[in-house]
Amino acid sequence: MSDGRKKVMGLLGRTLGHSYSPEIHRYLGEYEYRLFEKSPDEVEDFIKNGCWQGLNVTIPYKKRAAELCDSLSKRARLLGSVNTLVRGEDGGIHGYNTDYAGFMSMVQRLGVGVEGKKALVLGSGGASVTCVRVLKDLGAVPVVISRSGEDNYANLYRHEDASVIVNATPVGMYPDTQRSPVELTRFKDCRAVLDLIYNPLRTRLLLEASSLNIPCSNGLHMLVAQASESSFLFTGKKIPGDRILEVERLIKTEKENILLIGMPGCGKSEIAGRLGIATGRRVIESDRVVEEMAKMPIPEIFATAGEAGFRELETRALAEITKLSGVIISTGGGCVTREENYPLLRSNSKIVYLKRELEHLSTEQRPLSQSRGTAALYRERKPLYEALADITVSNDSTPEDAAKRILSLISAWE
Ligand code: NAP
Repeated sequence: MSDGRKKVMGLLGRTLGHSYSPEIHRYLGEYEYRLFEKSPDEVEDFIKNGCWQGLNVTIPYKKRAAELCDSLSKRARLLGSVNTLVRGEDGGIHGYNTDYAGFMSMVQRLGVGVEGKKALVLGSGGASVTCVRVLKDLGAVPVVISRSGEDNYANLYRHEDASVIVNATPVGMYPDTQRSPVELTRFKDCRAVLDLIYNPLRTRLLLEASSLNIPCSNGLHMLVAQASESSFLFTGKKIPGDRILEVERLIKTEKENILLIGMPGCGKSEIAGRLGIATGRRVIESDRVVEEMAKMPIPEIFATAGEAGFRELETRALAEITKLSGVIISTGGGCVTREENYPLLRSNSKIVYLKRELEHLSTEQRPLSQSRGTAALYRERKPLYEALADITVSNDSTPEDAAKRILSLISAWE
């Protein structure tokens, strides 16, 4: 085996464009980590003869990888799928399943006891099998909901006494982020929601759980915890629990958008530009996206389609922009007046309310500030901005100062 082969780790899958694994492994270990996109007819040769020492395996190759291993860990054999391969010194390929450790850590971190509780596991794919095993090992009573199973979505609510709901389907995942697999309000005894999806950070299901004060978690912790178990198998170095939490926080901060809300003329565009320069992130102005969609400037949209027409376009623009990860978004001042925008704003973004004294607000090129009066708009919108904000920063001194404070509050966020 060559030295090059010894040092290369990576992820094997079909389509890997949106994978977070390279960033996660960059924080976990000092090895090269590459993405290996392979078609089904390339997989066998790659696993047997490719230049790698450690591999993570994702959809749709977890079962195929298990078949090609020279040995399987007890857990991988029991679950029938591997997500981690290690090439031994003798060239033998050894298969493991680290999703088990990842989901176990996700349940334990949420801190909600599941023993003796009915737990619905939505979906019957590879991740579902792992979740069911973990839940059984914790003493819960899992019920798998499958589109084609005896327990399915048509009779779902016969299980409305379930205490735990686990989403192990791709429903709600990027790019189709506006869907939810179940209506949570029907589950009156629900005490925990675990969604394996991590993009967006807050799916519709998780936003509904939060609004009902149900403890909930996305799949980012599971992703990092399973990666750290893989890293241990690759290198023999154990990753401490606090490092797993730190890496989860770093990835979340990198992936989460910074989204500015606030009155027209409060300085959102300028501060977004400064944040873009300071962080190297792309900056998107929702008003510019609306203008591109309408192929006309905003005052003309108001003149031809009225405020309602503009708001429709704005919601469509926000639905696309807010799906992105790791960007700076400057919104139009009135986006908070439509409730249907709230899940869009919250799904993948830290929301920053940029406050500015009324007398400092500019009304130039702002149709509503001119026609309705800034003071009336401010009275209507201030409580909406405050209710939506994760962070509030005043822009009454200098824009440099406001941008700096936003970044320092975000980096201190847990
Ligand atoms: P999979 O093997 O493709 O299984 C997904 C299952 O979801 C399918 O078997 C199907 O079950 C159900 N499903 C698929 N499309 C659906 C639809 N349109 N409506 C309702 N149900 C649908 O995938 P997987 O590996 O189990 O992964 C499932 C999810 O977990 C994905 O979102 C994946 O990204 C996530 N995941 C996260 C982590 C993590 O570390 N956070 C790890 C593994 C997986 P039925 O046909 O029985 O309904």
